[in-house]
Amino acid sequence: MDSHDSQLHISFFPFMGPGHMLPTIDIAKLFAFRGLKVTIITTPSNAAVDSTLQKTKELGFEIKLLFIKFPYAELGLPEGCDAKLMFQPQLRRKLCKIIPSMQHSLEELLQQHRPACLVADTIFPWATDAAKKYGIPRFVFHGSCFFSVCASICLYKHKPHHKAISDSEPFLIPDLPDEIKLSKNQLPDYIKQEEVDEIIYAFYKSALEAEFTSDGAIVNSFYELEPAYADHYTKLTGRRGWHIGPVSLCNEDFDEKAQRGNEAGNNQNKYCLRWLDSKPPSSVIYVCFGSMTNFSDSQLMEIAAGLEASGQHFIWVVKKEKEDKGNGKWLPEGLEKRVEEKGLIIRGWAPQLLILNHVAVGGFVTHCGWNSTLEGVAAGLPMVTWPVSAEQFYNEKLIIQVLKIGVSVGAQKWIRVFGDYVKKEAIAKAVTRIVIGEEAEGMRKRARALADKSKAAVTEGGSSHNELNHLIQELKALRTEKLMLQ
Ligand code: UDP
Repeated sequence: MDSHDSQLHISFFPFMGPGHMLPTIDIAKLFAFRGLKVTIITTPSNAAVDSTLQKTKELGFEIKLLFIKFPYAELGLPEGCDAKLMFQPQLRRKLCKIIPSMQHSLEELLQQHRPACLVADTIFPWATDAAKKYGIPRFVFHGSCFFSVCASICLYKHKPHHKAISDSEPFLIPDLPDEIKLSKNQLPDYIKQEEVDEIIYAFYKSALEAEFTSDGAIVNSFYELEPAYADHYTKLTGRRGWHIGPVSLCNEDFDEKAQRGNEAGNNQNKYCLRWLDSKPPSSVIYVCFGSMTNFSDSQLMEIAAGLEASGQHFIWVVKKEKEDKGNGKWLPEGLEKRVEEKGLIIRGWAPQLLILNHVAVGGFVTHCGWNSTLEGVAAGLPMVTWPVSAEQFYNEKLIIQVLKIGVSVGAQKWIRVFGDYVKKEAIAKAVTRIVIGEEAEGMRKRARALADKSKAAVTEGGSSHNELNHLIQELKALRTEKLMLQ
């Protein structure tokens, strides 16, 4: 089918990790539900995603995966390996050099399938040129919020960290609607590579500059959450950011929520939900650090001890294999037995959407990945913020300073995958602060009000619902204009 056919075809080209694949699938479904033909360009390592699209396909919506060649051999990786291996830290320099060679494969797919629009991840800046060759618009998908993208742009433009007096001294990020301060320690490493690594810095620079040449951005956020930053994005870039989230809310029924990114299988899900059913409302703290974080054994020990000391019910997701059970290397002796009633440890993948929205859950300890943050907002939960890397230290500022729905555990250093070390006392204290007392009550109230707004945003007449309609109208108008010029 080409762009002359009446059904509008939109193509997505996300970063291959779960943090970008999962929201892309949700966004893809939203477009498919509005009658568009949708394709998702990804690597064969993500082939399993197809099973989560089954229900949407059975309902008659057109949505499918297109596989792109990935330079596995050039990177010395096994064909079709997992995204975690593809993006491991020691391959970064090589990746920055080699990834742009994928432009040719992307163009082949565009040539073959002729979508009317391309939504490509921010890490593929050359996708704009590829789209231009076929006369179609390219939108950026960052996988983050307006607040963090604005912070990134202002840091890039003004480089306030160059004048920071030390690594730990907070400095002001200029040109933002609020007074936001960060320290050099909390900044992503690629921002600081200017003098250290030309290749990595050039990659980061081209991704940021593509912001100003693309046709806009699609943002998994809703206007009422960060209005000043949604407007500021347009001021900074001259581009429109289309806010169509929270996109995870498109997963309405139990199976859709249970299957999202699911590697665990239904038995674990059922057990976890039965356990939650046995707990009083708002009594359980959910602790999860996304898909990429990999804490050291001694950090896991501190988390376990901190959760036990907090005295609260908890579900703690640990990205360890099932076989680790009982090894005790990362668990204080006998803890699992001792806290049987109070705590549940999930090894591997948790059904996060089901857990966050269970009535027994009353708080969320999060690494501030944007999906988790927004899912926590949509579930109306106060949060303990524990940023690790990526843009998570920016998201922490949004949660605590702007939205006032969380408290910090006190992580001070951006450390890819492993995170800053946090002691059990700080963990127990922060968990208690989001559960007990006046401060907790205030956060809970604000979080619940935001959850109501998030749901209103995606229902008919709401800001995100309208925005998606406008975007589709705009794409249709663009296509008509193009046809008239031919
Ligand atoms: N997630 C999940 N179960 C897990 C871990 C993560 O369902 O055990 C989902 C979570 O709901 C979110 C995504 O994976 O949608 C993680 O994205 P996020 O941006 O929070 O963090 P990242 O993994 O990119 O660091």
